[in-house]
Amino acid sequence: MVIFDVDGVLTDGKMHYGPDGETFKSFHVRDGLGIRFLKRAGIGTAIISARNTPVTNRRAADIEIAHIIQGANQKQEALAILLEKTGLTAEECAYIGDDVIDLPAITRVGVSFAVNNAHPEVIDRVDIVTKNAGGDGAVREVCDIILKATGGYTPILESYLK
Ligand SMILES: [Mg+2]
Repeated sequence: MVIFDVDGVLTDGKMHYGPDGETFKSFHVRDGLGIRFLKRAGIGTAIISARNTPVTNRRAADIEIAHIIQGANQKQEALAILLEKTGLTAEECAYIGDDVIDLPAITRVGVSFAVNNAHPEVIDRVDIVTKNAGGDGAVREVCDIILKATGGYTPILESYLK
């Protein structure tokens, strides 16, 4: 299962506020397709976000993310909930994050990723740092790495070359 932080990972970390407090965020379309490809390859997906906004639910539904935990200030607890739900071990999970709030989860999974513009304390503690920035292709890069490592990449690509 691949677990994604939202702000700064699926987005560039910027939040746009409307006058009535409505929050707007930008997501990258190529990240969304990468997440769909994970599902197609039989790999689980999840979101753990400290914030709780309707826009995240909307985006997660659009790209068919299986598990969504919002309002999770304790990301280790959220990870434990996901593991219990799915029956997976932390070793069987990947996590991609960008800030120190992700460290309690990111340091426990089998493969850890930081976006290239993550906080330096996170960059120092992960297995892989992406070439792309959060909200700007980092998630697609992670999806591609995982698909290539698990054999799912070539069949999906070839389905578009017929
Ligand atoms: Mg974040």
